[in-house]
Amino acid sequence: MIAVIKPEATEQQIEGLVSWFQARGLKTHLSEGEFQTIIGLIGDTSKVDVDLVEGLDIVESVKRISEPFKSANRKFHPRDTVIEIGGYKIGGGNFQVIAGPCSVESPDQIISVAESVKASGAALLRGGAFKPRTSPYAFQGLRSEGIELLLEAKARTGMPIVTEIMNAVHLPLFEHVDVIQVGARNMQNFELLKELGQVKKPILLKRGYANTLQELLMSAEYIMAEGNKDIILCERGIRTFETYTRNTLDLSAVPVLRDLTHLPVIIDPSHAIGVSRYVKSLALAAVACGADGLIIEVHNDPQNAACDGAQSLTPEQFADLAEGIRRIRKVIETL
Ligand code: PEP
Ligand code: MN
Repeated sequence: MIAVIKPEATEQQIEGLVSWFQARGLKTHLSEGEFQTIIGLIGDTSKVDVDLVEGLDIVESVKRISEPFKSANRKFHPRDTVIEIGGYKIGGGNFQVIAGPCSVESPDQIISVAESVKASGAALLRGGAFKPRTSPYAFQGLRSEGIELLLEAKARTGMPIVTEIMNAVHLPLFEHVDVIQVGARNMQNFELLKELGQVKKPILLKRGYANTLQELLMSAEYIMAEGNKDIILCERGIRTFETYTRNTLDLSAVPVLRDLTHLPVIIDPSHAIGVSRYVKSLALAAVACGADGLIIEVHNDPQNAACDGAQSLTPEQFADLAEGIRRIRKVIETL
């Protein structure tokens, strides 16, 4: 980290600032130019409050040289993290598709969707039991019964299951869940993230719709700092001024996160675009740009879905998409 000092700062003020940094365990390197003095900070600057330093009277600007995330940082862990879930690997060249309904609605619904997406090649089954809905009057999910139905579908098909947690008090219900999802709305629920850091299960961490990639990585860092290193990052669309689509898919997240972190990165085209007829284009683009996987909403009867029917593919549309994914993967393997 570098602090650029204002030209009018006195020697005494600069010395005071140097001691302030040193009291925080940092080594300092003073560089006095003809017009400008710069203080270089050496050591772990992750605990330094940049805004606080920038607000000091004698400081002109502050620049971080190293990123504030450590465990998630590729610099300290150059090799891709590969996460194994019920025999399926994701990351480091291993690609997986997670598919299923937005929410679990009934035994017939979840089992029929599970069987059809499995037949088309999906590895993992998704389904919401605890649903984060904008309106308190909208369907809130079947809650614990929803998790039981997912476990039934898992027993029937052998598919590992992914479902969202909204409150750490529900953790005991997730004992047999394979991957715990943190939804966009909870990406910065730091107390929840800390609890999930103590869990020995992979976490699917979705990017908040108004969060930067650095904030996403800092949220991963919260989980990793507590000991859980198995995190799958998910870009699911961010909020922009566009209204034809539910959100705007930020595909640039894939190559940028690939550079910044060793964690697997998947794309959720369903929530990104919100319109089923556009899901295939985005999904194929995500595969082409190097995502480690996809999470896709599929419903046996989208018109009557309790949640997110407009963006849900039918099992037949999903089968067609799965074929497209296979073909794009073949092409990119040759690049
Ligand atoms: C979901 O996956 O069902 C969901 C609610 O997603 P998001 O948190 O991305 O909105
Ligand atoms: Mn949904």
